[in-house]
Amino acid sequence: MIAPTAHSITESSAPSVSSGGNGRSVAARLRGVTVSYGGQPALQNVSLDVPVGEIVAVVGPNGAGKTTFLKALLGLVPLDSGSIEVFGRPIDEVRSGVAYVPQTETVDWDFPITAGEVVVMGRYPHMGLWRRPGRADVEAVQGALETVQMRSLARRHIRQLSGGQQQRIFIARALAQGADLFLFDEPFAGVDAQTEHALFELMGRLSREGKTLLIVNHDLSILDRFHSVLLLNRSVVACGPTAEVATPENLRRTYGGRLQFVERAEQALREGPSDVSARPRR
Ligand code: ATP
Repeated sequence: MIAPTAHSITESSAPSVSSGGNGRSVAARLRGVTVSYGGQPALQNVSLDVPVGEIVAVVGPNGAGKTTFLKALLGLVPLDSGSIEVFGRPIDEVRSGVAYVPQTETVDWDFPITAGEVVVMGRYPHMGLWRRPGRADVEAVQGALETVQMRSLARRHIRQLSGGQQQRIFIARALAQGADLFLFDEPFAGVDAQTEHALFELMGRLSREGKTLLIVNHDLSILDRFHSVLLLNRSVVACGPTAEVATPENLRRTYGGRLQFVERAEQALREGPSDVSARPRR
């Protein structure tokens, strides 16, 4: 199990918050970030630091702005106001350092591509116009496949892999890209307990190697497996070490009236995991 860290996300509306909590360097720093669609704010005045190596659950009800938060970190949505730095630099300068790991269910599996070819796509930002993989690209792809233990299945069509294996391939693509900040969109949705355990093991390994992982997660029963939690409902409700932040009171503040589900989460946090998800398991 991933142990909670002493200090993790630090949040402040004051722009003077300095380098990552515990003296750890900062992977992502947001200050006063507001993003709107058609004049309606989806994220409002979000300020926080995410230290390098952190595994963070990004939690909130539907429409809370979680996906918008990931998109903002990827530089895919314009900011109304505020600033975002990734590894101390503007996003435009470090794009290949940030990788999005999609929800496997949103991927078009009819696209004729092998698992290995998906990983090679991670090298595109590094290849020339003709996208011919060079030696460094091949090494990066093989190393990434090795890390996620998927070398033997690299020639399979991506559709022929299980959900957990597909997740591994997308993680390998991010590794091949050379990313240090990984943004996951519900990686545990619809996976069985064994796959979930294996994914957490892999994520723990990535964290120990200095990767930072921000993970949109709807399953409140597994929050204790994350170092820290960001409770989001358009603005930051609370963020920091899981044990301090994932309290019934904070969860109620985040989810508002959805008390029944928060009560089941409380029970799970007291008694250990059960199926407490804000979203039905598939
Ligand atoms: P969910 O858990 O349902 O995936 P979320 O927390 O990821 O939700 P977002 O997808 O970030 O929430 O959406 C936040 C708000 O912004 C919602 O009210 C949503 O309807 C709105 N929104 C998101 N994308 C767009 C868009 N492209 N155009 C207009 N409104 C949008």
